[in-house]
Amino acid sequence: MTASVFVINAGSSSLKYQLVEVASGEALASGLIERIGETTGVATHEVPGREDVTEHRVISDHEHAFGWVLQQFDRHGPDLDGANLLGIGHRVVQGGARFDRAVRIDDDVAQQIDDLAPLAPLHNPANLQGIRSARATFAGYPHVAVFDTAFHLTIPPAAHRYAIDATVAAEHRIRKYGFHGTSHQYVSRRMAALLGRPLEEVNSIVLHLGNGASATAVRGGRSVETSMGMTPLAGLVMGTRSGDIDPGVIFHLHRVAGMSVDEIDTLLNKRSGLLGMTGTGDMRDVQQAADAGIERAVEALEIVAHRLRGTVGAYLAHLGRTDAIAFTAGIGENAAAVRAAALEGLEGLGIVIDAERNAGRGERRISADGSAIEVWVVPTNEELEIARQVAALVAPSVVE
Ligand code: ADP
Repeated sequence: MTASVFVINAGSSSLKYQLVEVASGEALASGLIERIGETTGVATHEVPGREDVTEHRVISDHEHAFGWVLQQFDRHGPDLDGANLLGIGHRVVQGGARFDRAVRIDDDVAQQIDDLAPLAPLHNPANLQGIRSARATFAGYPHVAVFDTAFHLTIPPAAHRYAIDATVAAEHRIRKYGFHGTSHQYVSRRMAALLGRPLEEVNSIVLHLGNGASATAVRGGRSVETSMGMTPLAGLVMGTRSGDIDPGVIFHLHRVAGMSVDEIDTLLNKRSGLLGMTGTGDMRDVQQAADAGIERAVEALEIVAHRLRGTVGAYLAHLGRTDAIAFTAGIGENAAAVRAAALEGLEGLGIVIDAERNAGRGERRISADGSAIEVWVVPTNEELEIARQVAALVAPSVVE
């Protein structure tokens, strides 16, 4: 009998969902509702093999959105009763130092997610809104929170502590948490399977390069270092985020440029990265501009590659022995030139890319046969990882 999990990713004005069949990993249905609470909402419901449903309409709040979703399942399928729904999985961005794994949601867990809101003011309140509405809509089903940070709680103190006043850090819960954990966990596990070796024996570096980007060093299935920090602003160059900068830049922008904290926040989170450097935050457009010889696009790609190479170098040192490097997410899976540039000149460290394999498509090895460290493209699947973690928690026999 099929068993499925309903996976939810709630933003402040959006709701993304997928009905995942646990055994096959297939998406039985998926959808996206955007501009919730605005005058013009857009909602789509997709079922493989059927025509997509798209409606432009007012969707007043998340509960209203879930009502629309249920209606689509009724009208266009698949039949939710026939899908043997095991539970509802919620993506939650910030789990703090408390949640090191997926957890069943009760009022106490909901309260703790709320308590973590100061650490993720853009995300946790929105995630919680999704949880509250979904618990009302899907009453009677187990609801599970799967945290973006949980996989990284194994990072040792030397790597997760910042060198600041220890009292201030403790009082305000300031430390590295890391994000994209669900993706890093999925890809590192898949990487070990592709190498045909037990997870416990494999050391890998996962480069999740999407609109947000992060790198993780994984030792034997456990995250030991990651590039995002207390917030997702740290580390690599991203679509609109700067990644690492000297914190002194912030004081300078305030004192000398006269910018307010909110303005600096917007500058670094929303108007930096590829967007800030080139005028577009979309890697495809940046590559096109670089191919057309536009200097600032060429430079932006060099900065992206430089930061990636430095991070890989640091993680090679942290791991001591690295078996594989895995590229994933929109850019990691599709941008061959970014992959090649990031690992260029690392032959001396045992990393040799095969140009023809790199230009191919899909899940595959892209390193040359003689490369001591294997390099792979491993498509991520965060929804499936969430579905599996939900199933493992509420119906372990299904996952066995
Ligand atoms: P998100 O973090 O929002 O989930 P994605 O993982 O979908 O983002 O990644 C989006 C990024 O992937 C964008 O910068 C987009 O330009 C890039 N991307 C997608 N396809 C390609 C491609 N064929 N070549 C280069 N970049 C691509």
